[in-house]
Amino acid sequence: MDRNTSVLELKGIGEKTQKLLAKLDIHCVGDLLAHYPRDYDLYEEPVKIAQACSGSVCAVYVTVVGIPNERKVRSLHILNVDVSDSSGTMQLTFFNMPFLKKVLKQGGYYLFRGTVQARGSRKIMEQPKLFPLEEYRKQEGCLIPEYALTKGLTNQTLRKAVKQALERCEFEEEYYPPELLTACGLIPEREALETLHFPREREGLLEARRRLVFDEFFSFLYLLRRNRQTSEGLKNRFRMFETADTVRFLERLPFPLTNAQKRVWQEIKNDMGSPVCMNRLIQGDVGSGKTILAVLALLMTAANGCQGALMAPTEVLAAQHYETVSEYVKRYGVCFRPVLLVGSMTAGEKREAYRQIETGEANLIIGTHALIQDKVRYKALALVVTDEQHRFGVRQRERLAEKGEDPHILVMSATPIPRTLAIILYGDLHISVVDELPQGRIPIKNCVVNTSWRPNAYKFIAEQVAQGRQAYVICPQVEEGEMGDLENVVDYAEKLRCALPPDIQVAFLHGRMRPADKNRIMEEFAARSIDVLVSTTVIEVGINVPNASVMMVENAERFGLAQLHQLRGRVGRGEHQSYCIFVSAREDLETMERLKILNRSNDGFYIASQDLKLRGPGDLFGVRQSGEFSFRMGDIYGDAAVLQLASDAVEKLMAGDPKLELPKHRALGRRLAQEAANSVDFRSI
Ligand code: ADP
Ligand code: MG
Repeated sequence: MDRNTSVLELKGIGEKTQKLLAKLDIHCVGDLLAHYPRDYDLYEEPVKIAQACSGSVCAVYVTVVGIPNERKVRSLHILNVDVSDSSGTMQLTFFNMPFLKKVLKQGGYYLFRGTVQARGSRKIMEQPKLFPLEEYRKQEGCLIPEYALTKGLTNQTLRKAVKQALERCEFEEEYYPPELLTACGLIPEREALETLHFPREREGLLEARRRLVFDEFFSFLYLLRRNRQTSEGLKNRFRMFETADTVRFLERLPFPLTNAQKRVWQEIKNDMGSPVCMNRLIQGDVGSGKTILAVLALLMTAANGCQGALMAPTEVLAAQHYETVSEYVKRYGVCFRPVLLVGSMTAGEKREAYRQIETGEANLIIGTHALIQDKVRYKALALVVTDEQHRFGVRQRERLAEKGEDPHILVMSATPIPRTLAIILYGDLHISVVDELPQGRIPIKNCVVNTSWRPNAYKFIAEQVAQGRQAYVICPQVEEGEMGDLENVVDYAEKLRCALPPDIQVAFLHGRMRPADKNRIMEEFAARSIDVLVSTTVIEVGINVPNASVMMVENAERFGLAQLHQLRGRVGRGEHQSYCIFVSAREDLETMERLKILNRSNDGFYIASQDLKLRGPGDLFGVRQSGEFSFRMGDIYGDAAVLQLASDAVEKLMAGDPKLELPKHRALGRRLAQEAANSVDFRSI
């Protein structure tokens, strides 16, 4: 059994489980091993009731006082039990567990573990787990991995499958040369995987994680550096000059460019007219107006008789860009002949798009990664712009080079990155910064609240909708049960329909819907036939609906601040006062302090750096900060030191043996080639 063996070969996995695993993109043993836990549960020492904080998961060792109280609400059986210890009392609530009435004896001592909630001055636990004391003591201090799941698949099933995979998979030899392993202080891959999935203690876990994060960064940076060698100083085959088209377009736009936009536009023009190919990154906070710069560069390309391509990480965003550009054609008569090319189009539609691209009938091609597939032949591709996904940019450049095209490259990014990291991650690009927001934006009003504030939030949303505005509500998961008891899009939308006046249109959107459905929902939202959109973070990238004025985020404690900042960037894009409501299900001081940073600043750069400061070095399994650099586990901020280490190792390796031809580098070469082939990790949202 090796990494490519199908999961069906594992004992206990039949077609049903296979289908569920496929939903999580797990097909072979290797995928299973790379399905890293998203968190760990630690069975801590039991606490006194008085010490059990609302919102936290605790174990209490208590005695039953009073007689359990039983109720039935429709088909739901509810059992309430009062318990106490020397410090206080607490109420436990169980659903559909009538047998517990007999098990829990008045005066008996039991250990319960669950999430503590406050109801007024009372503390309660809903559906806690009951443990025999010795059983609990055995697990105390153990880290239990928690995997991302899907409905119908339990953590237990996944754990068993991973265990088998680890036992039966034959691992290749270690692929890093021994001196690299020692110099970087890395443990063997197999040990790392075993520890990550079945950790004994925290120390080892950090070591394991470090090795796997290093691997991710290493292969990414290797690809990046190899690219740099081919793209640096590349001759400009498409020297272009500004024409009346862009000048006229700028005159007709309803707003003047900001000074920052003007400066970057000048830099782009210089690049495209110079003897070497453009290779430029535009970095700018959400809402700084990067799209217009891409449009200008693409217009200059079209006016010079060439083709330009604009790639987005999601179909939703691609469709939106297509709409924007088509609107410019209609309104300002610009010389674009745009065509959309996305995965969800029918074979016939795609064929027609390919034809227009090959004949040059289309001079602006907008889409997702479908744009770089083998079937696409360009007539004269002179410029490729990628929006909001840097990794996508790197891989795509390689693919285009393989196809013999050397277009200008423009990468647009909203991820704020400190200089030291930018040198590593963007080492091959010239950087332009749009460090100024368009004038006249009204600052967004923020609030950080707990869940009891929801009724006010709903009332507020209803008022905004009555004034003609729209709202987003973000939940961390798609359906119930994937990640514990977090809010989910499907149920939440239903809940909102009941809580809001009936004439308010509520719809939901998530990454697992069919692309065509996602596009339809987004179009309806843009056209205002939907008032409130309940969504996962699918909408975090790039979406521009200036009429939306409210962004409400549920379980805000589960998101990184940089990500929350991106979400916030979806509102405050028009002339209306906009509002952000961050709802936290946890109320401990630390969580609230962290979220309140969002109140203090609107600067993505500052926010990302503060978030980092607040997270301790052991706090590495929390939230991912940047979707744009979608590493499996590595976090460009939190793992900056490992990133630096991997970068140095790649530099050193490439200085001595750039093509990895020495015998001691062959295993590594094979591994990286395999990684590159498998790394078509374009997100399917
Ligand atoms: P981002 O940088 O996040 O991609 P967008 O390009 O989507 O931002 O721009 C956000 C909004 O700001 C759009 O509605 C756009 O039309 C508008 N905008 C862009 N530049 C200016 C400007 N100079 N003045 C006023 N509004 C602008
Ligand atoms: Mg954008």
